[in-house]
Amino acid sequence: MVILMTTQISNDDIVTLFSNMAAMLEIKGDSVFKIRAYQRAANTIDQLSWSLATAAANGEDLRKIPGIGKAISEKVQEYVATGHVAAYDRLAEELPPNVLDLLEVPGMGPKTVKAAVEELGISSVVELEQAALDGRLAQLPRMGKKSAENILRHIHAQRMRSDRTPLGIAAETCAAVSAQLFDACPGLVSLTPAGSLRRWEETIGDLDLIAISDNPSETGPALAALPSVRETLVQGDSKTSVVVDPGIQIDLRIGEPDAMGAMLQYFTGSQQHNIRLRDYANRQGLSLNEYGITVIESGVTEKFADEASFYDRLGLPWIAPELRRGADELDAARAGSLPNLITVEDLRGDLHLHSDWSDGKFPLEEMVAAVAAMGYEYMALTDHSQGLGVANGLTPDRLARQIEILKALQDRYDMTILCGSEVDIRADGAMDFPDDVLAMLDWVIASVHNAMSQDRETMTRRIVRAMENPYVCVIGHASTRLLGHRDPVDFDIETLLQTARDTGTAMEINAAPERLDLKDTHAARARELGVPLVINTDSHHTDGLSNQRYGVAVARRAWCGPEHVLNAYPRAEFLAWLRSHKGERAARFDAMVARRRVESGQ
Ligand SMILES: [Zn+2]
Ligand SMILES: [Zn+2]
Repeated sequence: MVILMTTQISNDDIVTLFSNMAAMLEIKGDSVFKIRAYQRAANTIDQLSWSLATAAANGEDLRKIPGIGKAISEKVQEYVATGHVAAYDRLAEELPPNVLDLLEVPGMGPKTVKAAVEELGISSVVELEQAALDGRLAQLPRMGKKSAENILRHIHAQRMRSDRTPLGIAAETCAAVSAQLFDACPGLVSLTPAGSLRRWEETIGDLDLIAISDNPSETGPALAALPSVRETLVQGDSKTSVVVDPGIQIDLRIGEPDAMGAMLQYFTGSQQHNIRLRDYANRQGLSLNEYGITVIESGVTEKFADEASFYDRLGLPWIAPELRRGADELDAARAGSLPNLITVEDLRGDLHLHSDWSDGKFPLEEMVAAVAAMGYEYMALTDHSQGLGVANGLTPDRLARQIEILKALQDRYDMTILCGSEVDIRADGAMDFPDDVLAMLDWVIASVHNAMSQDRETMTRRIVRAMENPYVCVIGHASTRLLGHRDPVDFDIETLLQTARDTGTAMEINAAPERLDLKDTHAARARELGVPLVINTDSHHTDGLSNQRYGVAVARRAWCGPEHVLNAYPRAEFLAWLRSHKGERAARFDAMVARRRVESGQ
């Protein structure tokens, strides 16, 4: 198989380039149109499920992408060809070196940054902090003592919270704070997360909460008084902002029950979704804000108790938060072609599970019982293979014994128990078990657990070789990333997914909240190519079994319905796919998807 090797420039690199250019032009006070063009390009590229650099290198016309014109397209070409963009370098030379860091501080817009740089000679966040402390910052035009104090507080808060928080940690923190707040506030009726948490983004910036309370004035002070609060940033009638352990900012707002629809919609975002929705409303003579929808001509503001009626007023169906990315979702909503998204209830099995035979915490029997209690039709037990010594991986002998025990257990359950293994993909792409051992198994996950720093070409070839093994059913947590801890391995995702398609290999969406692997854009590309996805919890503990919602969120952000996910199919259909020859699985899966579509009337 020929592997198409491309440049190392990722979509993220290009997004950073253009957002930085937009910010620098803003500081310079350049034309609004030019600034918007770079912002729009950055946003568009961020949503792509395929590599822009590869497309550019293949000579494709990038201007066919909405939001990418001639100037942007030329800069992408230049970046891909040379690794530099002359216009960017010129801008960077004209401005002080750390100017982009200054923009990251809340309260520091481009105009303020410009003034701080030119009038106070500030070139770093440390110098900004100093100027705020000694009173110079407050003397800038339009600044004042209060704003300068806020900026100082934001610098401290930023230092305390390390960047964005992985989704799983943010969700846990949200649940804990919510429980404490309900205890502390007898009048609290509801507490709804909005923002990036409600959109199930993989990392969360600030945590937005909207409260409805019979006694609104008790809510903010109660939040500020919680023991987990490290610092209070804002305490007002309508909004309270605090930083809680482990360093997450919470913005709590009070909502009105009869106007909750607009408020929830407004604070759920994303910013890009709301900008596009606002444009769409404006064209109908309506304007949107956090309180409702205003008829521009009469000035009358209408209130909405829920989001469905809010969207309905605009002539749109409700759009699931996971889809609100400012990409194609509004067009799809208008055309009535929003996807019928998968839900947790659609899942009928979990196909990546560990027991204490390898590095799981529970005996085989207890793990199987806990999975059965989830109400599943099928499961696969997949302890590690021998090569993973640290995880007490199974030798072929131990595996044979485990299979016997599982087969005996099967008599007690209606749920189908598949004998599986999570087999290491060795550094050269060979499987950690020989084929005659793999042949004993019903279900083989192939995963990378070591030699993760291989270059792109080697890593891609390694996983491709695993996919070509006739016994490998699925690639587990392909990128091996751990959010906030370990970067993804480097591979050419397009080559991997094309090979998955060609070889009849499925791709896992690993639902462990620290993994979320495949990520959403890669899962979307898999869907487009007709590669079956499998949502697994990779549970090492019975508690992990309830993590499926995280994997389902990735699939939903990838516009997947239940038809795109193998373990959302009824047992008979799933087993028929599994028992078919690997070379026939792609065609079989296409037929399964088509049949589901017809049945559900899509
Ligand atoms: Zn693994
Ligand atoms: Zn695993």
